[in-house]
Amino acid sequence: MSGTLPIAYTEDFKNNFKIYVKKNKRKNVIYELNHITLIDVKRITNLKGPLKFFKRITYGSSRILFLYCRQCFEEFAKYFNCEQCDTNSLDQLIILDIHPRGTAYRKTIKPGFKFSTNWR
Ligand SMILES: [Zn+2]
Repeated sequence: MSGTLPIAYTEDFKNNFKIYVKKNKRKNVIYELNHITLIDVKRITNLKGPLKFFKRITYGSSRILFLYCRQCFEEFAKYFNCEQCDTNSLDQLIILDIHPRGTAYRKTIKPGFKFSTNWR
């Protein structure tokens, strides 16, 4: 579909997705993620404080943390040495993690963290 963005998933996301999202809902969540457009991304404000590099979307009681590579590269490169965003395809999303509401980000992703490297 035009206007949607390519996405990559971290291993943390893939593992937690199976833990926190019921089997019969998984297809819907992946569908939602695959239909995020550039307009959506620009409308979603970044989180605050140490998580300011990231954006969040809500699905049911789940919170999905992601980053938009163009913003990562253009605004945050000096703070956050991200090695995953490909400068040749910045209009991409990296889906970082998923947690239920309430426990979201207890296991905080800190600036400078390394993503797991096995992309789907
Ligand atoms: Zn990046």
